[in-house]
Amino acid sequence: MKNVLEYLERSGALYPDKISFADTDKQITYSELIARARSIGTALTYSVGRGKPVPVFMGKSVDTICVFFGAVYAGCFYTLLDTKQPKMRLLDILRTLEADFIVTSHTYDDDLAAFGYGGTVLYAEDLMEAQENSTLLGMIRKLSLDIDPLYCNFTSGSTGTPKGVLVGHRSVIDFIDVFTELFNITDRDVIGNQAPFDFDVSVKDIYSAIAVGATVHIIPTAYFSIPTQLLDFLCDRHVTTLIWAVSAMCIISQLHGFDYRTPTEIKKVMFSGEVMPIRHLTEWQNALPETTFVNLYGPTEITCNCTYYVIDRKYERGESLPSGIPFPNEKVFLLDENNQLVTETGKTGEICVSGTALALGYYNAPEQTAKAFVQNPLNNKYIELIYRTGDLAYINEEGLFCFASRKDFQIKHMGHRIELGEIDQALDSIDEIERAVCTFENNKIIAYYVGSIDKKEIVRRLGERIPKYMIPNRFVQMDSLPLTKNGKIDRKALAAVKKR
Ligand code: AMP
Repeated sequence: MKNVLEYLERSGALYPDKISFADTDKQITYSELIARARSIGTALTYSVGRGKPVPVFMGKSVDTICVFFGAVYAGCFYTLLDTKQPKMRLLDILRTLEADFIVTSHTYDDDLAAFGYGGTVLYAEDLMEAQENSTLLGMIRKLSLDIDPLYCNFTSGSTGTPKGVLVGHRSVIDFIDVFTELFNITDRDVIGNQAPFDFDVSVKDIYSAIAVGATVHIIPTAYFSIPTQLLDFLCDRHVTTLIWAVSAMCIISQLHGFDYRTPTEIKKVMFSGEVMPIRHLTEWQNALPETTFVNLYGPTEITCNCTYYVIDRKYERGESLPSGIPFPNEKVFLLDENNQLVTETGKTGEICVSGTALALGYYNAPEQTAKAFVQNPLNNKYIELIYRTGDLAYINEEGLFCFASRKDFQIKHMGHRIELGEIDQALDSIDEIERAVCTFENNKIIAYYVGSIDKKEIVRRLGERIPKYMIPNRFVQMDSLPLTKNGKIDRKALAAVKKR
């Protein structure tokens, strides 16, 4: 198999009339999805060449899925643009993609007006009306390679510009084949999609489903602030499988959602993105005692996840939940600060990964790519690229990887991966700020700054550049920032500063 469309077409042949994707307004069968995607694919070939990006300015919906697969039929890769992002950030992404058009739908007319985009706008509603040209689509497929890019997900970048992680067909097929097999995801499963489509957790929902002919129910983002609605949705749609971010699971347990209703048909819960707090895991385990829970670990750059741990017991608070063992066909190992392999139990090293799972790099960013995707320092005999995750871990007595912490200033805040450097850059762009730096303390982003500007105005200006979830929770105005003897900002001293 070299193209994910083979998954879609296989399921389309086996289950033509089965619902593939459903949201709160629409549902679509496998055969309808293929037909619509082929129409969109044909229409896109008139505007965009093979191998090029298709920026999709839409939320998560059935129509968005049609556009994604339309882009793939056109031999392109897709990037979801979060419609709620500030204009400047969206333009940064489009600049990186060197794209002069976007695909959207009339559902997002208001967001599009707020964005004020000046380039070409293609509407999904129009693209779907195109007459499919199977000769053209056949030619495109013939030319396709398994190393062709499939999607590009943008993640926060420390230079101030988001980085586009480009992932190819081969990596997704390699991962999804083992993922569906290991966790027994079949055509009988009903997947409840939580993750936004610009977050690679959703890749597991979309591609697991089309690989086995399962159904995905797309849960509206708004339901994650109303647990009763969320639990009704899970029960009423007979959801069996959750592949969610840790932060989303915690919403249900924190708000004691299970006191209202328990979705007893859920048989598999796979979570990732952050350390799962044991208190929350226990609450889920108590509510769903027959359910399998799996801790998945990995960054977007290695295609979803590289290790997994099937949880076989209850954990005590204070115990650390292992990240587990590598997925088949992924090499996961630890390097110490001298680039030596860590083999000793309990010793910490940086998690490094090699294998087909590695992304194709950061799109249009060769320098950043070269920094993170490097030759394996343990191999000087042939080319073996590894991805340095920046995560620190150790191996426990049972031989399982255990996540420890980060090496740098990347954080997870409200489920979002953020480089504090991107916020620092946004603060720097404000003329009245002389110097600023952010830290992450007790789950809060704190901005320390020197300058004559009040907090309200800073928030307003930051809102023009960075998404809401990146705006610091607190601002501390200072006369000067403490420095270490090497002249760097002393973050330890900042943590000790009294915050009013
Ligand atoms: P993302 O690329 O958004 O998936 O974020 C990847 C980062 O999230 C990793 O590099 C880790 O720092 C963190 N992460 C992902 N999964 C886990 C997990 N199961 N436990 C702890 N941290 C995780």
